[in-house]
Amino acid sequence: MSASEMSLSPILKGLNPAQNEAVTAENAAILVLAGAGSGKTRVLVHRIAWLITNQNLSPYAILAVTFTNKAAKEMRSRVETVLGRSASGMWIGTFHGLAHRMLRAHARDAELPDTFQILDSDDQLRVIKRVMKDLNIEESQWPARQAQWFINQQKDDGKRAVDIPQNGELFTVIHGKIYTQYERACKIGGLVDFAELLLRSFELLRDNQHLREHYQERFKHLLVDEFQDTNGIQYAWLRLISDRQHCGVTIVGDDDQSIYGWRGAKIENIQRFDQEFNDVKTIRLEQNYRSTGAILKAANAVIANNSERMGKNLWTDDNDGDAISIYAAFNEQEEARFIASRISEWFKEGNPYQDCAILYRSNAQSRVLEEFLIQRQIPYRIYGGLKFFDRAEVKDTLAYLRLMYNKQDDAAFERVVNTPTRGLGPKSVDLIRQKARQNDMTLWQAAQAIILEKQLTPKACQSLTGFLGLIENGYEQLHELALSQQIQLTIEIADLMTMYEKEKGEKALARKENLAELASAAREFDVDDYPELLPMTAFLAHASLEAGDNQAENYEDCVQLMTLHSAKGLEFPLVFMSGMEEKLFPHVMSMDDPDKLEEERRLAYVGITRAMKKLYLLYAEKRRLWGKDTYPSVSRFIREIPAQVKEEVRLNSQINQPVFSSPVSTSAESDTREYALGQTVEHPKFGMGVILNFEGEGDKTVVHVNFESGESKRLMLAYARLTAC
Ligand code: ATP
Ligand code: MG
Repeated sequence: MSASEMSLSPILKGLNPAQNEAVTAENAAILVLAGAGSGKTRVLVHRIAWLITNQNLSPYAILAVTFTNKAAKEMRSRVETVLGRSASGMWIGTFHGLAHRMLRAHARDAELPDTFQILDSDDQLRVIKRVMKDLNIEESQWPARQAQWFINQQKDDGKRAVDIPQNGELFTVIHGKIYTQYERACKIGGLVDFAELLLRSFELLRDNQHLREHYQERFKHLLVDEFQDTNGIQYAWLRLISDRQHCGVTIVGDDDQSIYGWRGAKIENIQRFDQEFNDVKTIRLEQNYRSTGAILKAANAVIANNSERMGKNLWTDDNDGDAISIYAAFNEQEEARFIASRISEWFKEGNPYQDCAILYRSNAQSRVLEEFLIQRQIPYRIYGGLKFFDRAEVKDTLAYLRLMYNKQDDAAFERVVNTPTRGLGPKSVDLIRQKARQNDMTLWQAAQAIILEKQLTPKACQSLTGFLGLIENGYEQLHELALSQQIQLTIEIADLMTMYEKEKGEKALARKENLAELASAAREFDVDDYPELLPMTAFLAHASLEAGDNQAENYEDCVQLMTLHSAKGLEFPLVFMSGMEEKLFPHVMSMDDPDKLEEERRLAYVGITRAMKKLYLLYAEKRRLWGKDTYPSVSRFIREIPAQVKEEVRLNSQINQPVFSSPVSTSAESDTREYALGQTVEHPKFGMGVILNFEGEGDKTVVHVNFESGESKRLMLAYARLTAC
């Protein structure tokens, strides 16, 4: 194709020369190494379209991996737009999603039952706890979460329980034992955790020549977004599938945005790619299209303090725009109040809420932020919080269904055997567990044996028989119905509603709504994505994968709250980064280790570069953190931003209170003592506090004070008996 023909292609419209080069390159391996907002994701999407339309690759010959389900959906729809036809059936997804798909298609070769179920991390923890109990390993000494961490880390490194040395450090030996027993429990129950999805599908290809060749033959081009955050097993998986002559591979990434080192991601994978793949062409994109000049200068200046960098240049031809606003709040409440009031103003100016994100380092920070958003009636949504498929009522219902479809699913059995309560207390359940362990059975089989052998009290025995019958009959009654009817019937059969109705009003109502929503999610579920599966099996798998994702669906215009980690790849016109304080960010656990500190700085870089137009960085002079009052100092990441592009928000010029520009005089008092915002005051009953706001004028002035006791009060200034300190 000639250069002029190329430039006519609609697929290449809106690409700069470097992007164009990456999209159309003919090399087998392309590495796009470029900074934030330079169009890497855009290049990936256009390259897919280019390969299909200009290289005549079948859409089914493409394997594209993105970081979240949401990104995958987005990519699919963008490919559809560019191609003008459906992309359903294409292999675009997350590593987990794609590995799952492969295992479903070849469950038997992967030595899994057809009905295998996915364990989300909650369920996984439950199984680990049970295993530890069986092994008499004290949780007080060996926390179950640590064991979970250990197991997942081994899997991410491609290691099975047999690969763990049985002598050596006690830590490794104990965890090796737990891992071994956990593997057995999963095998008996047909359960697969997230890390297992990848490891298992890697082993499937490694150990089955015909399958390996099939996929190597099928996928002519692999594309990976956010490559800097791939871990060992993901890299090995990609390498295996692409291990064929002429397989095309396009990876895009940014070493400065590698933020999952703590979870096993290996930044070195970028160098490995360069060395291990043939004919690698590296392309650098240097123009940033996302952010204003000021935001970009700030990001560049911060990341320049890291030493381990591949080195990139990033510029924009946008103006500097607004300076970055730095706001020092008195405490976390005041920080949240400030953010909420800014968002209100922004909304009143005609901007949608969804263009605005509040980012934080630690999940626990969201509570106070939520409180003030609610107060101001600002709708918000938390990414990565307790999402729909994580909610108890949804999980209960799905656990019933999982058990009906797979009696060996121990995690589901445990969840619902006594939910709603049916007189099977911890003792009876313990007995079932013991029996299962002693005889290497599933809980279901153990329960049957216990009934036969009459090992429970007659009453408990009757309950257990009733429970098993309910599951058996339930399946018979519903398995041929439509998905949503199966869900409705399950809720009825299991009598879940009666249980929830015992809770207080609001909560029960919310649960009811969620269950109705679950039925409608099933109605809308597209079974075509999994033609080889029973619809319910496909739906249950979908639910587990969604629960494990860090993204929320967007259906209402709302402000987006999320951790800095979940913000990767996204962009918002207005961004608040809250809690920019030493020990919180950089996190106290990372401050003394230079490598970890660099990862924190990369996280700061990710955060700053999410902002398109306006960025606020906030810190509090006092913060209640992890149950203690702390008096943090401002984060080094704020100090690293050049003075020319940042401005301190002055309270008196920024808060929309006329009274604020000049101190308030309390005319009703005999002395003309003056107060100002932010001033520390003392109240005879409530103690020390800080003035947050004034409302009204003259005698009717109301002062809003946050007291150290945690109480927040609105008091008539004239009668408040405050003393200035
Ligand atoms: P990140 O590192 O944060 O994932 P990225 O490199 O993947 O960022 P994109 O999300 O692809 O960047 O692009 C950033 C923004 O710039 C998007 O809004 C995109 O539409 C826009 N953009 C990218 N390239 C161009 C271009 N050539 N012309 C106009 N806009 C562009
Ligand atoms: Mg991107």
